[in-house]
Amino acid sequence: MIGHKIPTVYERSVFGRCGVALPARDVPEAPLSAVELRTDCGLPELSQLDVARHYLLLSQRNFGVDSGFYPLGSCTMKFNPKINEQIARLPGFAESHPLQDPETVQGNLALMFELQQWLAEIGGFASVSLQPSAGAQGEFTGLLMMRAYYRECGDLKRTRILIPDSAHGTNPASTTMAGFTAVELPSDARGNVDLEAVRVACDDTVAGIMITNPNTLGLFEEHIGEVVRLVHACGGLVYGDGANMNALAGIARPGDLGFDVMHYNLHKTFSTPHGGGGPGSGPVGVSARLKEFLPGPVVEYMRDTDGARYVLAMPAKSIGQVSTFYGNFGMLVRAYAYIRQHGADGLRENSEHAVLNANYLRVKLRDTFAVPFDRTNMHEFVCRGAIDGTGVRALDVSKRLLDYGFHPPTNYFPLIVSEALMIEPTETEAKPTLDAFIEAMQAIAKEAANDPALVKGAPHEMPVKRLDEVKAARELIFCDRVKAAND
Ligand SMILES: *Cc1c(COP(=O)(O)O)cnc(C)c1O
Repeated sequence: MIGHKIPTVYERSVFGRCGVALPARDVPEAPLSAVELRTDCGLPELSQLDVARHYLLLSQRNFGVDSGFYPLGSCTMKFNPKINEQIARLPGFAESHPLQDPETVQGNLALMFELQQWLAEIGGFASVSLQPSAGAQGEFTGLLMMRAYYRECGDLKRTRILIPDSAHGTNPASTTMAGFTAVELPSDARGNVDLEAVRVACDDTVAGIMITNPNTLGLFEEHIGEVVRLVHACGGLVYGDGANMNALAGIARPGDLGFDVMHYNLHKTFSTPHGGGGPGSGPVGVSARLKEFLPGPVVEYMRDTDGARYVLAMPAKSIGQVSTFYGNFGMLVRAYAYIRQHGADGLRENSEHAVLNANYLRVKLRDTFAVPFDRTNMHEFVCRGAIDGTGVRALDVSKRLLDYGFHPPTNYFPLIVSEALMIEPTETEAKPTLDAFIEAMQAIAKEAANDPALVKGAPHEMPVKRLDEVKAARELIFCDRVKAAND
């Protein structure tokens, strides 16, 4: 929570104030006749101290993983180790240019090559491309590969992609963008995709299924083996949404379960920063039959008469490039550092702790916040955030959590649970933090019973109250002066 008073005045420029003291001129003044000087820029006039405070205070108006618990379900807001940043900043990584001759950046290519290998190993895939810049772009890439595969087989009637109703919204969106038709499948009473519905939907128009395991209820798909078998049996392919790999990394491999293609979210599972919509990374892994369709360039290791070296190559039937150059290279460096630091055992331990933490929260909270699919969960779980009989809804609980110093869980997702709160603690949180969160949630439930208006009016302690969240995202106001001009 923000511990000091935030100035309410945003515009702090004072006429004549200056950030630097220049020495007196000791040369004759010369006119800048060739340049037309603008005098209407209205640049702010501030001291250095004013500027430093301004930006520091702005930074403190945000919640971040480094400032507090951030249980935003499905997003895996784990701590981003600072050593990742130090390594990404090494001059050999940070200052190399994408157009450099590959001979001069062999170390960078070696890193990409090893990361491709490691991700393939972690996911159980034949090959990986590091090109896509986000999970959603990985989905789109995977679907384009599936499309290319069927075109090559001459199988043009496969136009449908099956998607469970618990899926992330990007799944039907990428499906539609790639020219397929999304077919929604219901969930069963235990929170799995309904096996009978899969069976009925499978025919020779099915290009594949797009499935998240564990799914967005945080539950392991209990019939995943049979789902994969049914889809393969009708000639379809299995796309795995790998956003929830933080429950599986080091324990189970989707490739072994029969998945044909999957994206990894490096900014989730592999501790690269989410960066406010900034540089993400969503590499894709594929089974052998899709290998040649991967986007490139990929890095290969070759040995010939010129010696051994890393080279950039385009897979034979590549769908092409989906990012400029080599994807978000800086993120690849961070993920590499993370995997290298933890090793296979460490990754497994991280997944186990992520699952343990999430189960601890579910069991401690389920008497206060009903858990509709109350079985052992994976790295996250979904509860109902509404407090019956008080009019307090999940969103109100989330807003009140801000006053307690916690970032809210994911709200109203997945869509199949009404008043959903999706809670993902990650492995990087210690028990005292989890306990403090449990206490805050229980305190809010009490407040809801005794004084619902308090919860419904939250947040009370934040610089701004409730926002129109759609407008806030669509019509960002970056500058106070723009606002003043519009007023
Ligand atoms: C985060 C997420 C995505 C999309 O990944 P981005 O990297 O945000 O594009 C897709 N599916 C699930 C289940 C996710 O949690």
